[in-house]
Amino acid sequence: MSASECLFCRLVAEGDHVHQADGFVAVNDINPKADVHLLVLPERHVDTFRDVGEFSAEEAKRMLEFVAEAAREAGLEDYRVIVNVGRGAGQTVFHLHWHVLGGRTVGGFE
Ligand code: AMP
Ligand code: ZN
Repeated sequence: MSASECLFCRLVAEGDHVHQADGFVAVNDINPKADVHLLVLPERHVDTFRDVGEFSAEEAKRMLEFVAEAAREAGLEDYRVIVNVGRGAGQTVFHLHWHVLGGRTVGGFE
């Protein structure tokens, strides 16, 4: 899939980033399921978490650190991190992303 066809590649290129560093961005989910609902996206297109092995060990570590940084910068101390892997688990956008949910949750993420 080319970058122009992938919604999240477009968000990486031209979205409203609430945090950005070292190849990763965080954006607000357009349909928030919690008081704070961030999406963390690697700038590099990887379809799903199943393919996490495409990241180097250093990139994978950085990605996890970035999730924690984005949550901290959003003012969250307690939060949940969710990755939907595959259609059967609710994945709708096939560019790996991490949901970061803080505060009250609604609609499927309770
Ligand atoms: P998933 O169902 O795990 O693939 O998550 C996809 C998420 O992307 C959903 O929570 C959507 O609300 C969110 N989403 C879809 N389009 C956009 C967009 N243009 N900007 C921000 N979030 C979006
Ligand atoms: Zn993409």
